[in-house]
Amino acid sequence: MKQTVVIYPSPGIGHLISMVEFGKQIINHHPSFSITILITTVNPSTTAQTTPYINRISQSTPSIIFHHLPNPTQNQPNHHQIPSIFEILHKNNPIIHKSLQTLSLSSTISAFIFDVFCATSLQVTTQLQIPSYFFFTSGANALSVLLNFPTLHKTNTGKINSHNLPNTYLNLPGLPPILATDMPSPIFNRNDKSYESFLAISNSAIQAKGIIVNTFESLESRAIKAIRDGLCIPDSPTPPVYPIGPLIAEPTAGDHGDSSNVDCLTWLDEQPRGSVVFLCFGSGGVFSAAQLKEIGVGLERSGQRFLWVVRSAPTEDKSKRTLASVEPDLESLLPEGFLDRTRDRGLVVKNWAPQVDVLNRESVGGFVTHCGWNSILESVSAGVPMIGWPLYAEQRLNRVVLVKEMKLGLWLNESEDGFVTASEIEERVRALMESEEGRELKERVLVAKDEAKAALSEGGSSRSALAELVESWCL
Ligand code: UDP
Repeated sequence: MKQTVVIYPSPGIGHLISMVEFGKQIINHHPSFSITILITTVNPSTTAQTTPYINRISQSTPSIIFHHLPNPTQNQPNHHQIPSIFEILHKNNPIIHKSLQTLSLSSTISAFIFDVFCATSLQVTTQLQIPSYFFFTSGANALSVLLNFPTLHKTNTGKINSHNLPNTYLNLPGLPPILATDMPSPIFNRNDKSYESFLAISNSAIQAKGIIVNTFESLESRAIKAIRDGLCIPDSPTPPVYPIGPLIAEPTAGDHGDSSNVDCLTWLDEQPRGSVVFLCFGSGGVFSAAQLKEIGVGLERSGQRFLWVVRSAPTEDKSKRTLASVEPDLESLLPEGFLDRTRDRGLVVKNWAPQVDVLNRESVGGFVTHCGWNSILESVSAGVPMIGWPLYAEQRLNRVVLVKEMKLGLWLNESEDGFVTASEIEERVRALMESEEGRELKERVLVAKDEAKAALSEGGSSRSALAELVESWCL
C-alpha cells in the first residue's frame, strides 16, 4: 500500500504555510510518500487568506492532497456564539477518527503530524495506533516556554499574579530573562479560558513521538539545547526534537488575484537599493483609527521611503470581526493629505501584500513586523533587519528573542495600552534605515540569512533532521 503522512494544521495562513512546506520537504526527500492535509474551515476571512495558497499548491504538487473537513460547529443551536478555536478543533475529533479510518483502507499512514491547537487529536491517533508528532509553527524559545508550562503550573501557585506581573522576570531554561508581561498572556492567569487548553497542549507535545519545530540550529541554539537536554521537561523524558526550518512560502506574487499585489512589486523595483521600509502586521494585525493616523505621521516625518499594508480599524461589533476583511477607506483612515504628500516616496497597499516577494526585493531595507514567527523567519531568510511591534499570541516573547537574543531587530517602545507615538515610530524607523546601529543589524541579519540557507542545504542541520525523521518512517 502507498505510504502517506497526514498533516493537521490549525486554521490560519500562519499555521498552514509551514506545515504544507514541511509536506513538500517530505516528498522531496522521499518521492514515494503522499501527503494528506486536513483543513478546518472556521470563518470567511481565514478562508479568503488561505484559498489562493491551497489552490496553488494543489496545482503544483499533486501528491499533496487537501482534505476539507466539514465544519463541526455549523449546525450547533447556539451558532451565533463564536466558538473558541479549542472547541472547534476538539469537536473535529470524531471526524478525524473517521477520516483516518477511511484513509487507512487505501494507504499506510506512516505518521500523523498535529499542530498546536489540534493537540486533542492525539487521543484519536493513540487509539488508532498511528505514530504522532507535534509540529510547532513558532520558534524554539516559544516551544521551551510551552514545554515548561506544566512545571510553571505546579510551582507557581499564585506566586506570580496580576499585581507583581509587570516587575517580575522569569529565567526559563535556554531563554534570556523574560519579563512576565512578555509571556503569552494565559500563562499566569488560571481564570483564562485557554489556560487549561494550553496545559493540555503542552502535555500532548510531551507525549508525542517527536517534536518538529520550524527553526534552525544556529538561530536558536541555546533554546534547542535546553529542550534536548531535558531542562524544560524535568519529570519525564523529552521526545526527540527536529528543528527543520526555516520553512517559509515560496514567492507568491499574484496569489491573491488582486493586481495591486503585483503593482507594489513593480513600484519596489523602481526604488533605490535598501531604501524602503516595509510595514506589515501578519494575517490578523489591525490598529485603531487613532493608531493608524499616528503611524502615518511618524512615517511621514521619518522621511523614509515606505510600503505599508493598511487594514480597516476593528469594528466594535464582535460578530462582524470574522467577516472577510472590508476594504479600508484610506482617505478617512490616514492623516489628511498624507497620500498626496508622500506620493513620491511611499505606497499604501490595502489589506494584503505578497510579503515573501516584497522582503526579497532589493529595494527593501527594513521591516516593521508584529513578530509573528513566520514573518521573522521570512525576514531573516531575505536578510532584512526588523523593528518589533508585537500585537497578539506569543509575539511579545518573539520580540524579546529577536532583539535581545538574536540581535536582528530594534525594540519599539509602546505605552501600557500598546499605543505607539508618531515620534517613536519616526525615531525607530530612522534608526533602522540610516544609523550605525541599523547598519550593524543589517550585517548580522545577512549572516543569519546565509546560515538559514546552509541549514536547508545538503549536510545542513535542518536537512539532516528532516532526513532522520523521514527515514525513521521507512524502517
Ligand atoms: N502575509 C502576507 N501578506 C500580508 C500579511 C501576511 O503574505 O499582507 C503572510 C506572511 O508572509 C506570513 C503569514 O502571512 O507567511 C503570517 O504569519 P505570521 O506567523 O507572521 O503571523 P500570523 O498571521 O500567524 O500572526
